[in-house]
Amino acid sequence: MPEQPGKNAIEVRDVRKVFGSGEAAVAALDTVSVSIRENEFFTLLGPSGCGKTTLLRLIAGFDYPSAGEIQLYGDNIALLPPFKRPVNTVFQSYALFPHMTVAQNIGFGLEMLRKPKAEIKARVAEMLKLVRMEHLASRRTSQISGGQQQRVALARALAPQPKVLLLDEPLSALDYKLRKEMQIELKRLQNQTGITFIFVTHDQEEALTMSDRIAVMSSGKILQVGSPWDIYDKPADRFVADFIGETNFLTASIAGVENGRARATLKSGATIMASVADGFQPKGEATVVVRPEHAKLVKGKGELSGTVENIVYFGTDTHIHLRLDGSDDLFIVRQQNARSASCGFETGEKAGISISDDAAQVLRD
Ligand code: ATP
Repeated sequence: MPEQPGKNAIEVRDVRKVFGSGEAAVAALDTVSVSIRENEFFTLLGPSGCGKTTLLRLIAGFDYPSAGEIQLYGDNIALLPPFKRPVNTVFQSYALFPHMTVAQNIGFGLEMLRKPKAEIKARVAEMLKLVRMEHLASRRTSQISGGQQQRVALARALAPQPKVLLLDEPLSALDYKLRKEMQIELKRLQNQTGITFIFVTHDQEEALTMSDRIAVMSSGKILQVGSPWDIYDKPADRFVADFIGETNFLTASIAGVENGRARATLKSGATIMASVADGFQPKGEATVVVRPEHAKLVKGKGELSGTVENIVYFGTDTHIHLRLDGSDDLFIVRQQNARSASCGFETGEKAGISISDDAAQVLRD
């Protein structure tokens, strides 16, 4: 992760993209601005239809913005055709040529650029080594596995040394285990090549695992940009908290904010100190969120109490679902598992939930 903010590779400024016209008009991007730094692994994350592919396509040059600028190292490239941009894309479908060998596929972009034969040969060899595919160089791409095809697609896109590599859900066709391996592999490739990666996904776990920074998108807008831990620990609003990881939502009445902390009285009558995002002044009723790993089950009285409804074992941890007393809300507590120990509670048992100060946050709805 770059410690200091580096140079900006891409700057998206007040970009709008409207499809259709009149009553049928859809604002796929509703005045979006974001800076992507040189040499960073940047992820656009959001649910289906939020506009992430549209933004990627505008950066690639497959489509043009209705308004706004897209700068690459300070030059406005918004209206430049794709082949004139030092930007390359890896698609979900890989789009490899099945009748060509692995090596021919990797060299294809360089052939199109009419690079000298010797240079192409050397570059293809370098790329084969980078993606660990030397042993399959002369195999046709119709005769290799999905994971291997993914590596060839990456090598082909990296071969012309683009300044920015765009990746549109490139791992979604792979099975779970291979996807996990390729996440690590992609991170290694980005580190080793130093190329700026802009990665699109709707998978929050994938985004948290790989990214230096993430932009969370919803309905054509960017809601928050930050490091994985910023986004997880300090979500900007309720949508981000809900989209990233599991979260418990409680309603509380707020009595004053002091030094970024609010006194929040829960429906159970218990009062906790909750942190508040910069610049937010909650008043009256507000949403308080507690991550499942920041709450603890206790045998006696806690800030909340409920009945254990479900115990879900995940190997490394256990999720305990409780129905809260005095409301019908569900609350999840996540406990790390000690070796061969049960979580200490049974389904149907009454339990207290302890929420320590600062485990909770008051968020904008
Ligand atoms: P997904 O994860 O499903 O690919 P996304 O976040 O990438 O979704 P986009 O594909 O960018 O979302 O679409 C954003 C919005 O713009 C959606 O409402 C979509 O229906 C609309 N849209 C995208 N492309 C077009 C198009 N060519 N014509 C009309 N509407 C479009």
